[in-house]
Amino acid sequence: MMIGRELAAGKDGRRAALRVAVALMAAGAWSTGVAQRVEIAVDSSKPTQVYLPVPGFDKTSIDTTVDPCNDFYKFACGKFAANHPIPADQAGVDQFYELYNVNTQSLNGILNKAAAGGAGRSPDEQKIGDYYKACMNTDLIEQKGLAPVEPLLHEIDALKSKDQLPAVVGKLQRMGVTVFFGYGEQQDLKDAAKQIAAVQQGGLGLPERDYYLRTGAKDVELRQQYVDHVAKMLTLAGSTPEQAKKDADAMMAFETTLAKASMTVTEMRDPEKTYHLQPIATFEATIPGVDFGAFQDAVHSPRVSELNNATPDFFPALVKEVNATDLETLKAYMRYQLLTAMAGRMPKRFDEENFDFYGRKLEGQPEQAARWKRCSNSVNGALGEALGKVYVAQYFAGDSKAKMLEMVHDIEAAMEQDIDQSEWMSAETKVKAKEKLHLVANKIGYPDKWRDYTKLEIKPEDPLGNKIRADEFENDRQLAKIGKPVDHGEWGMTPPTVNAYYDPSMNDINFPAGILQPAFYDSKEDDAVNYGHIGAVIGHELTHGFDDEGKKFDGKGNLNDWWTADDTKNFVARTDCLVNEYGSFTAVDDVKVNGKLTLGENTADNGGLVLAYIAYLDRAKKEGVDLAAKKDGYTSPQRFYIGFAQNYCENSRPEQVRNQVLTDPHSPDHFRANGAIVNQPGFAAAFGCKKGSPMVPVQSCRVW
Ligand SMILES: [Zn+2]
Repeated sequence: MMIGRELAAGKDGRRAALRVAVALMAAGAWSTGVAQRVEIAVDSSKPTQVYLPVPGFDKTSIDTTVDPCNDFYKFACGKFAANHPIPADQAGVDQFYELYNVNTQSLNGILNKAAAGGAGRSPDEQKIGDYYKACMNTDLIEQKGLAPVEPLLHEIDALKSKDQLPAVVGKLQRMGVTVFFGYGEQQDLKDAAKQIAAVQQGGLGLPERDYYLRTGAKDVELRQQYVDHVAKMLTLAGSTPEQAKKDADAMMAFETTLAKASMTVTEMRDPEKTYHLQPIATFEATIPGVDFGAFQDAVHSPRVSELNNATPDFFPALVKEVNATDLETLKAYMRYQLLTAMAGRMPKRFDEENFDFYGRKLEGQPEQAARWKRCSNSVNGALGEALGKVYVAQYFAGDSKAKMLEMVHDIEAAMEQDIDQSEWMSAETKVKAKEKLHLVANKIGYPDKWRDYTKLEIKPEDPLGNKIRADEFENDRQLAKIGKPVDHGEWGMTPPTVNAYYDPSMNDINFPAGILQPAFYDSKEDDAVNYGHIGAVIGHELTHGFDDEGKKFDGKGNLNDWWTADDTKNFVARTDCLVNEYGSFTAVDDVKVNGKLTLGENTADNGGLVLAYIAYLDRAKKEGVDLAAKKDGYTSPQRFYIGFAQNYCENSRPEQVRNQVLTDPHSPDHFRANGAIVNQPGFAAAFGCKKGSPMVPVQSCRVW
């Protein structure tokens, strides 16, 4: 459960574990599409402009002509869009993206130095430098043409029967080409001390199932654009246009059948719906005729005796459809999936075409990000802890860790107080809630023990090979965990990441060094502003342990109902209030926010703000702060709420908002601000708003 959408680093070079962790921002909503990341050749190796951080208290965004009691977001962020036009290479801009650009610039400085070479480089510096150098070498990429993927294309072409599919699918999945379904490692949801294998639905080129099934004009158009795009990619790789069109149509029919057998994004959030621990024989009985052992060998997994089948209805449908589909169509499907996954390290014609669909058509982004940005973030994806080690030494000031820890402890104390004072929870469940709270582990900045990349070979002249080897390395690292004890020191995000997350199986909250910078944490600002910004982020992650999903896990990370039936009933009545509130927001055109999909995030936003405010008032009291004294024209409580709302100042393209609402468990930014603020008990007094004004409704929602 992250605080926000994952920014543009995307999936380039990373295989996501099949975990249930949730982040502040979701995967892939920014930049270019959800299924694949794309890159085109722009030659500059350095920023052409200097990106500067937005200060914690951003006076330039406040629109003083707006009454804060009428629309607080418009008041706190009203001038943000005018001052922050969306660059052509972004789908939108918000506080996360502003910091992401500053951070990418910092990473780029490190990488240019490492890429310059020299005998004095450490093994990690050699790897990050050469990975970057190769990624930037577009002349070499053009020169190599299709050659680096040709052996793989031939292997697909040479398939004589469907019996041979499992081995090829395993090989492709190992290098990050997500064909047919997903396979990975996770903690056993009911026994968090165990790491097990997991299978789940997958194999779609569009973001998720409903993109294949909705009937609106925009959806029909996007599907046609997707089919055209697939045909173009196949043509670029050597098919005749006629054959490519035929293959693209047949492939669309195949993917549509998979989509129909898939669960919705809302269903996939429910751990009870995605937990079906099965002996391997039980799973294999649902996929008759498939040599799953051959797949496991090829993907470099141990052969397992049991696994979590997250989506049991999907697999029989997949096998049935594979049996009913012509082998040539399946080959075209795998060819396309390979090409789109590798497009960022392929000649410009592939990279451009891939961006044209996933970036331009799907996200509305006119131009692809500069190559230095994409390559810098690719290194973060592929070698994040090698890059992160240098990054934290240069950019993570020691004092921010101590200050963060203090805030985390303040906010944990606020949660304890909030649980104690809860009017709707029984004494017995309160005891258990506090037990869980006391077991939450805090991780701040970077891991205690750095990942060892010794066995990953990176060469300065092999852009695509580096990407494939890095993906295979990460795949093997993930799958090697199966059957081994859990490493509680492991991080699910790299240190430079501008995001944060809660992992219910680990029961830990994680704040990478990347987010501990302005605007989220600004050492030049007072506590009021910082508790509103990063304090609410800490509260957000902590509240995830007690949202509609997190409440189902106990302090040890096990899916285990520790609530009385009455307490759950009260909880649901309160979360239903949030489902209705957010479900009434219209995001773009006629598309409304999905109140159920976003419930966990909205609960976390609301609870996080409540907790941060309690914690701030306690801290201010301890330090003798005069709450009524003004700074920059605002009292401390006012600065706190402005700081919070400014976490979510945004300027987004409509296509991006549309995709976000359809796929992302986070509400669009400005609803995240106002949606939580209208429910805050302290807000009306801070701004002198009357009950019944738009920001102080007579009926408000409150869970935590
Ligand atoms: Zn979250």
